[in-house]
Amino acid sequence: LFVDQDLKKDLGVALDKPQAHYVATVMRHQAGDRVVLFNGRDGEWLGEIQEARKQTVLIHVQEQLRPQPEAMDLQLWFAPVKKIQNGLIVQKATELGVSALVPVQTQRTNADRLRTDKAYLQAIEAAEQSERLTVPEVREPVRLDTMLKALEPDRQLLFCHERLDGASALEVLQRQGRAQKWAVLVGPEGGFTDEERELIQSCEQAHAISLGPRILRAETAVIASLSLLQAVCGD
Ligand code: SAM
Repeated sequence: LFVDQDLKKDLGVALDKPQAHYVATVMRHQAGDRVVLFNGRDGEWLGEIQEARKQTVLIHVQEQLRPQPEAMDLQLWFAPVKKIQNGLIVQKATELGVSALVPVQTQRTNADRLRTDKAYLQAIEAAEQSERLTVPEVREPVRLDTMLKALEPDRQLLFCHERLDGASALEVLQRQGRAQKWAVLVGPEGGFTDEERELIQSCEQAHAISLGPRILRAETAVIASLSLLQAVCGD
């Protein structure tokens, strides 16, 4: 259970109303039940429910189960697509270990399609389900050219390019080895414009990668690229 409060032995945690409802009414937890807590900073903790009512749940923090692991610095820059697919992108990218979700506005994107507050709740749910101990940050939509200008010199950008002859993703990743900071960029349904492709490829840290000869939907490209990155360069 993700709680936005400090976690330390013997602290009391009071859940907010929606979470209390989830724990007491949906999960039907009662006083005496044990739950696992994390807050993205203090590792994983065992807690015992002391009081479980519809709108109030109080938990006594007991012992640490896992220390906070060092998380990979991995951003996903994605052009928001349709609502359901955005949800899928947020969920799968969280399971696959991204530390930040960055919706980018491209020439063929409608970034208004993404509700970042909803996306954050989806990320919390996916973090809980996948037992990771952090929740990725969900940024407000930002223009692609702004992101490219602000790209740090030590961040490697994997640019998923659907019409690329040349190096496969695997070769590029093996060449880059274990970089400390990554970003993966996936375009919108309509793809990037030629002008955008040139702009992206003019960045020294950008590496165009192909995920095979077929044109993948954006959400498939997100899953495929992050899986490869984690397999070759992840922890
Ligand atoms: N309308 C575009 C076209 O026909 O060329 C297709 C865009 S595709 C649905 C959405 C995004 O997924 C692309 O911008 C790219 O980032 C990524 N993508 C799709 N297939 C890919 C592939 N085979 N290799 C690398 N990236 C791919």
